[in-house]
Parts: sequence; structure tokens; C-alpha cells
Amino acid sequence: MKPDQPQTAPPADASARRAVRPVICYPTDTLPLPDMALYRTAREKTEKIAEVMVPPRDARCFRVPAGHFFRIISVEGPQVGDLNLWSADNLGERFYSGKTRALHGTHLSTGDRIWSCFPYFRPMATITADTLDWYGFDEFGASVHDVIGTRCDPYTHNLLSGGQYHHCCHSNLTRALAVETGMPLAKAEAYVHDVLNVFMCTGFARDSGQYFMKASPVRPGDFLEFFAEIGLLGALSACPGGDCSAEHSSDKARCYPLLVEILRPADGLLSGWRPPAPNGYDRSHGA
Ligand SMILES: [Zn+2]
Repeated sequence: MKPDQPQTAPPADASARRAVRPVICYPTDTLPLPDMALYRTAREKTEKIAEVMVPPRDARCFRVPAGHFFRIISVEGPQVGDLNLWSADNLGERFYSGKTRALHGTHLSTGDRIWSCFPYFRPMATITADTLDWYGFDEFGASVHDVIGTRCDPYTHNLLSGGQYHHCCHSNLTRALAVETGMPLAKAEAYVHDVLNVFMCTGFARDSGQYFMKASPVRPGDFLEFFAEIGLLGALSACPGGDCSAEHSSDKARCYPLLVEILRPADGLLSGWRPPAPNGYDRSHGA
């Protein structure tokens, strides 16, 4: 945070320096665009092949074949979900929240993509529907589905409040991945990464720049839908913060389950579509 009382006097040209106009770090005009028309057609005729109910204050894994859709659906009551994604064939290829933010902004919606880490750095999934896209940015600068938070975790909780709380999203995701893969907890934990905060309503306070949350506008029936560009292993935690209106990292908030549905498009609806190849950089790094 910036100090209320800076120790350095502003230079004579401070206002001129502050008045410089910002430029977008990563203009997206050359970003390869998903064929949204193709996805719109494909999602019109789908068959549900699996579903996973994620219990409150817990997480579950799910698998999505390449070329299928998956939906995260609010059921029973307002609930935030923390999402991790890996390549189904290689847990070393995982969702890269920071670069996804750099490309698409702080909060995601339809047409945005979930990018994987280096050196793969390709779209893992594309968002194909978002029933909360009407929300936009509110008067506090908040919006839904952020890639700015990291996940609630027992280490930060211990640092700030002391004690041992075991149902933070970080621990929920760790347990779910350990169960799914048979890995010991400590090994599974190392694969858990920064999340997409599904349905969470967040922003940065304008005065302090601090990360804030407020009650999610999600209601039962709302969903966020993705097209799997590659075969995916996902893990979703139903955050102990519930709708994240007050606090997380405790058992105080009302929490609800989240439903994940896996949908297969009808044959022939994805003609011409291929999973994206890993990034084209040659990895010689100038050596
Ligand atoms: Zn959480």
C-alpha cells in the first residue's frame, strides 16, 4: 500500500509525470480469436455425460474431454467457487491466472480464455456462456469471475488470525486432487495453483488499492460455461466464504453446493476444430 505521508517530496514535474496517458500492456488485436460462432452452434445440441456435485466447504475433481463443454452451476443458494485446471495428460500444464489477467483483464466473461503456464501457454478453455455478464462493473469497481485473488488458504489464515482451519479452498483443492490422483497430500498440494474465482464479486479499493470482496450477485440457476480446448482435469472448491459477503476461512458463512456438468456436443458440430498446439517460442532463451 502507498503511504498516507510519503517521505519523498514530489519533483517539480510531478503533475506532468502523472498526466502521462496509460497504454494497454497487451493489446489483444493480434490475439488469435476463438471461433465463437462455431462454439455457439456446438452448444445448442449437447448431451450431459457426467455431473459432479461439489459439497459446501469441500472440493471435487472432474474430467472434461477436449471438444466438450463444462458448466459450473449455482444450486440452492449464492456460492462462490475456486477453480483449478490442469491438462488431463500432464499436471505440469496448469492454468496461469496472472497471464490470463494480463491478457483479458481482472474479471472474465464470454469469449475470454483460460491460458496455461509456460512453456505450453495455450488456451486450455474458452468461456462460452456467462449468465452474470449483465453485472459489468458496479459503482465500487467490482465485477464477477476474477483472476486477481489467489484462493483462501490456511497459511494466510494462520498468519493473520492464528489457528488451524482445514476447509479453505487451498486445502479443499489439495484433498480433492490427492483423492483423484492417488498422490500423497504434500505432492498434490504442489500442483494447486491460483484460481479463477467463479461467481465471486471483487475489486480493488480505489483509495488503498486493497483487494475487496462483496456479496456475490449469483443466484440458483446461474452458470459459467466453458469449452475445453484440450483434455482437462478440473478441481472446484465451494469456498467456505459462501457468497463471500463477510468472511472466509471459517465455518461462519452459509455455504451451498455447486454443480459441475460435462456436456458432449452432437457429432459433426465441431468440424474444422482442432485442439491448440503448445506455444511456438523455441525456448532457446538467447543462450
Ligand atoms: Zn475460498
